Parts: sequence; C-alpha cells; structure tokens
Amino acid sequence: MEKFRYERPVVRKLESEMPNKFGMRTEYRPTTHIEGVAVKDLLATYGSPLFVISEKTLRNQFRKARKAFTTRYPRVQFAWSYKTNYMSAVCNVFHQEGSWAEVVSGFEFQKALGNGVQGSKIIFNGPDKTEPDLEMAIQHNALIHIDHLDELYTLTDLAERLKTRPRVAIRVNMDTGVYPIWDRFGFNYENGQAWDALNKIMHSGKLELVGLHCHIGTFMISTQAYAIAAGKLAELAIGVRRKFNHTVKYIDLGGGFTSKNTLKGAYLPGSDTNPTFDDYAEAISTALLNADFGSDQLPTLILETGRALVDEAGYLLGTVISNKRSSKGKRITIVDIGVNLMFTSFWYDHRVTPAQEFTQYSEDTTLNGPLCMNIDVIRESVSLPLLNKGDHIVVHTVGAYNMTQWMQFITLRPAVVIIDMEGKPHIIREVETLGTVNGQERVPQHLASFEL
Ligand SMILES: *Cc1c(COP(=O)(O)O)cnc(C)c1O
Repeated sequence: MEKFRYERPVVRKLESEMPNKFGMRTEYRPTTHIEGVAVKDLLATYGSPLFVISEKTLRNQFRKARKAFTTRYPRVQFAWSYKTNYMSAVCNVFHQEGSWAEVVSGFEFQKALGNGVQGSKIIFNGPDKTEPDLEMAIQHNALIHIDHLDELYTLTDLAERLKTRPRVAIRVNMDTGVYPIWDRFGFNYENGQAWDALNKIMHSGKLELVGLHCHIGTFMISTQAYAIAAGKLAELAIGVRRKFNHTVKYIDLGGGFTSKNTLKGAYLPGSDTNPTFDDYAEAISTALLNADFGSDQLPTLILETGRALVDEAGYLLGTVISNKRSSKGKRITIVDIGVNLMFTSFWYDHRVTPAQEFTQYSEDTTLNGPLCMNIDVIRESVSLPLLNKGDHIVVHTVGAYNMTQWMQFITLRPAVVIIDMEGKPHIIREVETLGTVNGQERVPQHLASFEL
C-alpha cells in the first residue's frame, strides 16, 4: 500500500454553512477517466480548461427518452433544440437518432440546414423571426410556430406574395399551476388570445394550420404541469376540428424536462429528486390519450427536449491555479474555469470531483474562477478534498446551455472534444485564438497608431 502523503493540520474557525444531510464529505472517488479516456491525457492534448462530451451518454439519454414516450404513445417525434447546444457534432448525433431540428433564429435555421436537415423537418420557434427569416422558412417548407399577431400578419402577407400556403402552428401559453406563467411567448389560452389567433388563421385561409405548440418553462420539476398543458392543447385541437372540420396534425409540448443537476438551495441532490423521462411521458401520454380524439385522429406528439438529453453528457475539465484563505479562514481554491464558460453555475450546485487520487481530508471550499470579477464563483461552498496547484478537477452535467451561452471574456474560449462510442476523442471545436477575436475587429485609420 502506498504511504499517505503528509498534510499539515489546520486550525479553523467553525462556520455554519448550508447543512448537508450526508455530512461534510461528498466525494469518495476521483473522476480519473471519462468514457475510458484519462482526464490528464485529455488536458495534456487539448489544453485546460476543456469541454468534453460523451457520445455514448447522448445516445443513451436519447434512447431512454424515446423509449419512455414510444412505449406509451403511438406517434412521437423529437426535434433537437439547437439553442441548448448547437455544436454541429452534437446536433448530428441527435439527427442520426432521428431528431428533427427546433430553432429559434435565422442563424440557427441556417445552421440546421447546413447540418443537412431538410427544411420540412425544421421547427421554427421564437419571437424574433425577421421577414427574410420567414421567407427562407417558407421556401424550405418549414414548420413555423407563430409567436405573436405581427408575425401572423407578416406571414399572411408573405403567403400572398409568394403564392404558397406556409405550414404553421401557434405557440400557446397557459396556466399550468407553475408560476410565474411564461406568458411572454405565444398566445394565452385562458384569456382567449389563442382562439383569436386560430380564428384569424382559419378564416384567412392563407396559412395551413398543422400544429399547436407550447413550451411551458425550463427545468420543470412538475410533471403535472405537462399533463395540464397537453390537456389544454388537446382541447384546442378538438375545438378546431369541431368548428372548422380541420385536423391538427401534431401537438408539440416543447422542452423543459429537468436534467439531474441540483438547483441552488435544494436540500436533496437533483439525481435523487428530479422526474425521469418515464414520469414525464406518463403524464403527457395519459393526458393526450384521455382527450376526445378518435383513434384515427390522434395527433403526433412532438417533443423539443433540450437540457434533459444533453446535460449529463457534458463535462468541463479544469486545473487548479492556487489555494488561499479568505479573511475568515475559509479555503479558497482558484481554478481556470470561469463563470463565463459555465453560465449554469448561477443556477446549479454543479458536482465537482477531483481528477486524481486524494487523501482523506476534505474541507469546505469556495471554488473561484480565474476572472477578475467578484461574481466568478463556481461553487460558493463545496466539500472537497485538498487540491494542489496543477491538480485537475471535473465539473459534471454541463452539456446544456454552456456551449451556447458562454462568453468570450478576459480569456479565450476552450476547445470542445467528443468521445465517440469506441472511446476515441475527436475535437469538435478548436480553442479560440487572438485571431478569433481580432479577426472580427476593424481599427479606423486615425486610431491605427500611437506614441507612448
Ligand atoms: C429552449 C427551448 C426548448 C428546449 O428547452 P429545454 O428546457 O432545454 O428542454 C424547447 N422549445 C423551445 C421553444 C425553447 O425555447
């Protein structure tokens, strides 16, 4: 047996921090490998910090979700939410699994086309679709989900000009018992706005109403909210059939399922408490099957699940820069991962594990990033074994939103690597360089030189 490393004992003042049911220590094993690849090798090859994505986890999560729904409901279609992670390699894993694309801007629309998704399998959501965006979407026969009346009128006008009937749905917002209601997107169900929009579409005759859409929120812990949403959309679909003898082909329940992350302030870890795909599928499919659809009129169920499919597959690897003590004596460990790379650290208590063997001591630690900003805190308070300069850490469950919301700030954004099904790493985004930033800049002639 290896001899334990000596660590100097420290005397420290007792501070009462957030209580933890499981005691002070939370990590017992280091994360030395990801899908069989050594963390230290990844960092040596691609630099630190580094995002790593497991293709195996992406596919497993997708297959779990698909199975949960297809075993309960006969017609199911997933559409990958681009804004959750639009790294092309990640999108294409989901497209290979059969997902369509769900986009919320002209840029994302073009990214999906560039990845090879046919326009007819792109769902176009969001409040800011410009006229050229809409024209592009119409030319590609995309599914356009109308957010507001101005968009409806623009579409009606474009339909006339382009002599075509765009395929549309309306986005509906509603009271699902979870507050605050996300009522800034789409048309409200309870106050009649949704019916106003439907009547306008159906009576104009210029647009082809194919679906009904909602996206009730994100990280929704209540499965019952989905049952209510599905029930309300079903009621609208049945109403459209009754009033206009027109069949709505699909009901799209958007995204919003939780990942296994732990929300800040939660008492129990998210991995123990958050609903599973089966829980969501049970609530949604039961509500749809119980609605008054004839068996030949059951709409296709579309799901735009983002976070829950990709979060677990993402890791952020980093390196310890230094340790110090706060004025009160609390341990501060500075790492090279800043909040500009980990937007979700504002919402979650991300699990952080050392990437190498450690000794038996653990200590309440503040994990700070490298930015010259007081807000650069990865974990306010986390019980970690002692880490030394040069040691590596692994932050878990960072696949959702971080690689799209990251900011180039003070430092350059790192590389992203995917580990394939055989355990082979591939770079999918190069580390940024000074040229990445300067390449976009222009310096006017009169500011081109100076003397100091
Ligand atoms: C962001 C978004 C999604 C994905 O949401 P998740 O919470 O990541 O599942 C789906 N649909 C729409 C319209 C969105 O804006």
